Amino acid sequence: MSHDNAVPFRAEMRQLLHILTHSLYSDREIFLRELLSNAADAINRVRFVQLTSADVRDPDLEPGISIRVDADANTITISDTGSGMTRDELAENLGTIAKSGTKAMLETLEAGQRGDLVGQFGVGFYSAFVVADRVTVVSQSYLLDAEAAEWECDGNDTFVIRPATRDTRGTTITLHLKDDAKEFANDWKLKQIIQKHSRYVPVPITIGDDVVNDTQALWRVAPRNVEDGQYTDFYQQLTYEMDAPLATVHISTDAPIDLHALLFIPAKRERGMIERRIEGNVALYSRRVLIQAETKEALPTWLRFMEGVVDSEDLPLNVSREMVQGSATMVRIKKTLTSRVIKEINDLAQSDANTFASFWNEFGIFFKEGIAVDPSAKDEILPLLRFHTTVGTDLSTLDEYIARMKPDQTEIYYVHANDLASAQQSPHLDAVHARGIEALLLTDMVDPFMIQHVREVQGKKLRNLDDSDVVLPGEDSAQTSVLSDEQLLAVVEGFKRILGTRIESVQASSVLRNHPLRLMATANSDMERMRRMIDRDTSAPTRKLEFNQANPIIAGVANRLVHNPEDSVAAAVIEQLYASAQLLDGSALEPAAMVKRIETLMQAAVSAPLE
Ligand code: ADP
Ligand code: MG
Repeated sequence: MSHDNAVPFRAEMRQLLHILTHSLYSDREIFLRELLSNAADAINRVRFVQLTSADVRDPDLEPGISIRVDADANTITISDTGSGMTRDELAENLGTIAKSGTKAMLETLEAGQRGDLVGQFGVGFYSAFVVADRVTVVSQSYLLDAEAAEWECDGNDTFVIRPATRDTRGTTITLHLKDDAKEFANDWKLKQIIQKHSRYVPVPITIGDDVVNDTQALWRVAPRNVEDGQYTDFYQQLTYEMDAPLATVHISTDAPIDLHALLFIPAKRERGMIERRIEGNVALYSRRVLIQAETKEALPTWLRFMEGVVDSEDLPLNVSREMVQGSATMVRIKKTLTSRVIKEINDLAQSDANTFASFWNEFGIFFKEGIAVDPSAKDEILPLLRFHTTVGTDLSTLDEYIARMKPDQTEIYYVHANDLASAQQSPHLDAVHARGIEALLLTDMVDPFMIQHVREVQGKKLRNLDDSDVVLPGEDSAQTSVLSDEQLLAVVEGFKRILGTRIESVQASSVLRNHPLRLMATANSDMERMRRMIDRDTSAPTRKLEFNQANPIIAGVANRLVHNPEDSVAAAVIEQLYASAQLLDGSALEPAAMVKRIETLMQAAVSAPLE
């Protein structure tokens, strides 16, 4: 690259400039947030290098960002004492989209989601061109042998790089404001924007001689001295969220470990959060230096929806990103934070049932995952669990369920299904309804995984109602036999012939009341459910079949089969009864076959003699 030669941007960059200047127009002020966060990042970068190396230009330079406005020249100049950039870095970092937030934003735009751009992403350096028609960047890298260089771009297709002078390490960005952006050449206006978007940048920002942000890290302030509004502001500036957090956990102690943490439960769970194996949203600091923006060691993976900041001076002096992993201090921090988060959520459940309900709705599934993957946390998590049950519409804890158990009831009963309405319709519930017993309704994908690890609560075993060995307490009204021996035999033979190896056995039920039949496990059906989910196995599992001889559909089938064992309507009805029971259990299904069968049945129905 020769001096002063115009270098063309990559194609996508032109597209980006175009999109940015148009779509960010109403949020133009965020350019300042972006440039200040880059400056703060650069200052952090050099501090991080200084933790382990003395070979840094101007090692004693005070960290800081200063802003100067020249209203006559219509410029804003932002200067930092950060890492600076070499000539090559200027070309690379400011000439390509690289892996910056800008790229993620472009991808979202391409996917056609225009809304709420600014809310979701850092839009990056190029937001400068929303207010400026010319930008110059003069930079001196912290590397001892690097020379200063200047980058310049007038918002068109090219940029230039030329040698420059800068006395000390850092970067100076000058924005030549567009005519319609003159309003930003105003100290007061810039102070306001900083209060709104950049108040908690952990480096002093000065305009003229005044420091205009809160340089003391909020997480190091004693909780009693922090107002709720400050937590909300901090959260919004940290995450770019518009909503207030659902709950805030602030820990600030020096002993037994030095630990200052500010953690937030967001109001909503991010889309895709359950499936995604993200690293964690917690930023780790030590001695005011950001060690890692996404620290998976600070909290267990099942708390990966939490956002915030953790700061400890007890991490080793030469802490590095690799060191974080093996650090005993980190293990203690994680344990402390986990217990504290659980405690806060328990307190929330006691003090604010509504907020807790929306919390559980968004994040409950993560706690079930916690039980499945983290046995050491089980006892702490168990009291948080909430379940739908057959009684009422409120969610219930296990303890509450146990308190409502019948005097002679020794087990906790549950059914699985893929959704609540199906669970409520489960044929396995006929028996418990008849006896006035309550059952848990489990509908989350993670439930079978969780149940494997719960097993027993207060000495009461958990029991799937599809288990044919279940012996329910209490009396059931005696089942009257309504079918003749001949009819019974015809039905049993019919099921066996039509369903073949899909069923292990067929018998008349002693417990079914409302449903024509149910399918019962041949082994531990929770394990089977897990395995099928993992293997994406959609074949029909072998089942034991129980039919309700008092049910009019079964009686009708019996009649037809006695008349003709090969009756095609009876065969279609049997197939459909079996498929319906599978549907309610949330097991295998063949939509194409079912649609055809239903057509056969509808044909038979409309062909019946007119009433
Ligand atoms: P991001 O901050 O998400 O990486 P940006 O578009 O904001 O994306 O910035 C691109 C890159 O330019 C940064 O990653 C950084 O390497 C470099 N950069 C920007 N501003 C500065 C600065 N003030 N000092 C040093 N490097 C900077
Ligand atoms: Mg940035």
